[in-house]
Amino acid sequence: MSGLGKGITAASAGRLLVDMGYKVVPIKVDPYINIDAGTMNPFQHGEVFVLKDGTEVDLDLGHYERFLGVEVTGNHNITTGKIYKAVIEKERKGDYLGQTVQIIPHVTDEIKTWIRRIAHENGADICLVEIGGTVGDIESMPFLEAIRQMQNEEREEDFALIHVTLVPIDSCGEQKTKPTQHSVKELRSIGLVPDVIVCRCSEKLKESTKRKISLFCDVPIEAVISADDASDIYEVPLKFKDEKLDTYLINKMKLSRKAERKEWTEIVDKLRKIEDVVRIAIVGKYIDVKDSYLSIIEAFKHAGITNGCKVVTLWVDSEDLEKSELKLDVDGILIPGGFGIRGTEGKIKAINYARENNIPFLGICFGFQLAVIEFARNKVGWSDANSSEFEKTKHPVIDILPEQEEIDKMGGTMRLGDIEVTVVRNTLAHTLYGMEKVVERHRHRYEVNPEFIDDLKEHGLVFSGYSDGGRRMEILEYPENRFFLATQFHPEFKSRPYAPSPPFVGFVRAALERSKSIRKDS
Ligand code: GLN
Repeated sequence: MSGLGKGITAASAGRLLVDMGYKVVPIKVDPYINIDAGTMNPFQHGEVFVLKDGTEVDLDLGHYERFLGVEVTGNHNITTGKIYKAVIEKERKGDYLGQTVQIIPHVTDEIKTWIRRIAHENGADICLVEIGGTVGDIESMPFLEAIRQMQNEEREEDFALIHVTLVPIDSCGEQKTKPTQHSVKELRSIGLVPDVIVCRCSEKLKESTKRKISLFCDVPIEAVISADDASDIYEVPLKFKDEKLDTYLINKMKLSRKAERKEWTEIVDKLRKIEDVVRIAIVGKYIDVKDSYLSIIEAFKHAGITNGCKVVTLWVDSEDLEKSELKLDVDGILIPGGFGIRGTEGKIKAINYARENNIPFLGICFGFQLAVIEFARNKVGWSDANSSEFEKTKHPVIDILPEQEEIDKMGGTMRLGDIEVTVVRNTLAHTLYGMEKVVERHRHRYEVNPEFIDDLKEHGLVFSGYSDGGRRMEILEYPENRFFLATQFHPEFKSRPYAPSPPFVGFVRAALERSKSIRKDS
């Protein structure tokens, strides 16, 4: 079922294979009809993750990129919508030569071909396919059927099926295996035989529970893996190693330990040793659904590991902030990406507070745009400054460029994915990145209005990064403060445990310095 941790389970199993020296290529199957997650509401679905090619996907693809150390494209996300679209296009072209087009074999063939194509195109040693949904769901049936066929078509050692189940604990503290038994029965009824059963449980599986599952579900006891709650998701690959999942897979798939990569263990070691804490406020609209900002939280973790501190986030509702008096007892303030007018004045208030009180500040995308608006209103003195996303004003400091308007008219989408940014020398941004050309992921429609750039600069705002030959502003900073930086792009999407995002590293470092100096003073 959803929320069980299938994505983390798959990513962690994949990480074990990466550590053994294999090239692992992930594919996420989302059985919903949407073509991609681009139009999905973060309230319902958690964060929209943006890939390098600009595809907007489910946040699980983010876990894969971080755990496996890869960068994938939209083709690695298969949805029912995409499969049916491909089948219908083929049918219209006459590719099926007059046959009746059916779920079996046409839809299932399309699924199998897609999976095999991605594996081959990417030179995968091992292709890791996660099937979303629950066994028995109508939507996931064609995918499970395709997988069943593959299980027969591939050599035995080339295929392993991992089934993730829930082991609840009853009021007497007993670990219950019935849900596992039933879901395995369901799986078997459609012809699928699990090789491994990963059991999600709030505590470690008892030997007796494992024995029971092994007996009733007909898998060897070594193939029953305890996936008890971890203090951090990065611990999960190590837990699986303790459970000897790697050894089981080596035997089942006739693999060998080609290498012994250590980065992951080293990262987790550092994570465990952390003592210092910094408090950072995230001022946003979707704060009730913490997964809406998942990559930001992950980027904080990476930057925290580098700086030797844990980032504790304080969630602040931007709408509440509009009404209340602002007093934030934090070491840093982050304004994330966002859409729509609701809560914007609260965010602007928070930015103003950060700027005037010299509190480390990081703005991302919408946060970047609102930082420009705050500056235009309070430093330049245009009290009506705003974004034309919300209102017509004499000072639309954030505006849509004519070329974007053209793209919109043609039914285009936002400016999405990897774009090269030029970083200006002798700026904070350049110190952080240490490079003049960086590639970061984007997801926006509005820009700093070129008409007002000179005025903003004259009043002390520095644009330290740009793209499109200088037409679009990408990074801003306010050098009077110890750390006041914002980016039009989303640096969080490229942050990795062992390659943290430079803006996040700098921000967390500044927050840590501030917290230490305050502690010293008091
Ligand atoms: N709403 C803004 C835009 O479209 C910012 C988007 C974002 O933060 N991702 O430009």
